[in-house]
Amino acid sequence: MAHVKLHIPGPVEVSSKTFQAMTRPMIGHRGQGFKDLYAGIQPRLQTLLQTQQLVYLSTSSAWGVMEGALTNLTSKKVLNCMCGAFSDKWFDVSKKLGKDAEALQVPWGSPIRAEQIDARLATGHFDALTLIHNETSTGTMSPLAEIAGLKTKYPEVMFIIDAVSSMTAVPIAFDALGIDVLLAGTQKAFALPPGLAVFVCSPAALARAATIKTRGYYFDVLEFEKNARENMTPSTPSISHIHALDSKLDDFFAEGLDARFDRHNRTNQMLRDWASRHGLTLFPEVGFESKTLVCINNGAKLGGRVIDAIKLQKNMKDRGVLIDAGYGKIKGTTFRISNMGDETVSSISDLIVQLDESIAGL
Ligand SMILES: *Cc1c(COP(=O)(O)O)cnc(C)c1O
Repeated sequence: MAHVKLHIPGPVEVSSKTFQAMTRPMIGHRGQGFKDLYAGIQPRLQTLLQTQQLVYLSTSSAWGVMEGALTNLTSKKVLNCMCGAFSDKWFDVSKKLGKDAEALQVPWGSPIRAEQIDARLATGHFDALTLIHNETSTGTMSPLAEIAGLKTKYPEVMFIIDAVSSMTAVPIAFDALGIDVLLAGTQKAFALPPGLAVFVCSPAALARAATIKTRGYYFDVLEFEKNARENMTPSTPSISHIHALDSKLDDFFAEGLDARFDRHNRTNQMLRDWASRHGLTLFPEVGFESKTLVCINNGAKLGGRVIDAIKLQKNMKDRGVLIDAGYGKIKGTTFRISNMGDETVSSISDLIVQLDESIAGL
């Protein structure tokens, strides 16, 4: 069957170099070979995330770590900041875990703002909050630095940040931000296959976890910390994914992190320019657009030409490319195109030709 290239906002296209790295012979996860592999990865992840803390590797998708962060770090009340499908779901996860949770809900497409969080935290009821840096369902990026600035005012509140679709595409300085957990799954901006998550905890988060008796087993952050000190993971990891991560980090540093961030900026701008050339607007509030995808309004609100997102998706698929026809309650009224991972000015130029042809055929 012909391959359909992924331009959905995760999973994204995986290079053959990366797949090749996954075929390295299996090794034991308690042996020197694995420890050397992890030890080789660790400093590059620390540079990427601008942290002195150990970076952990979890064999799970992002939701495992998202659930684990709540299990490990909150015993009082959690504030779930909600502005789209993924951040809304985190509130359900809190409730399913039996946590006392409160929703800070803004309309989809709006970012979360620091003053909204400040007003809730001022009640003194909370010991944790969850925030999605880049809400993938709506293509909206919340102002992380502005929000993290609240941490000094509320040191007892654990700031748990999902950067699933922004980590590696935009700079995130973990230590300088002063946040407590930063996590991502590898199938988005890392451009690895799904099945691995990368995360880091602050010293304050580890101290908080030590006060919580029911941290669970698989996502016990103190076990991650203890094992990471020995360049190991608590349980048998997906070693093949970790080989792929090793190879991918080679790519990141060969390109240079600043060049990588700049490339995402440029390719994202190309997609935004394409939308405006066709008289289409972006779904997120102006000034808070994601750098890793575009979530485009289908035009119905403008009263002009309306794009049939499902048909556009089909036309693109006929050309061998998969885009997304909108997520959850904005399915059909929006569509999304990803520029995460290995996409370049050249590959996005090709994509734009295909988009032009597909939109002309509607
Ligand atoms: C994709 C995504 C998730 C879910 O990740 P899984 O890998 O399915 O667990 C969570 N948060 C954001 C922002 C995402 O984009």
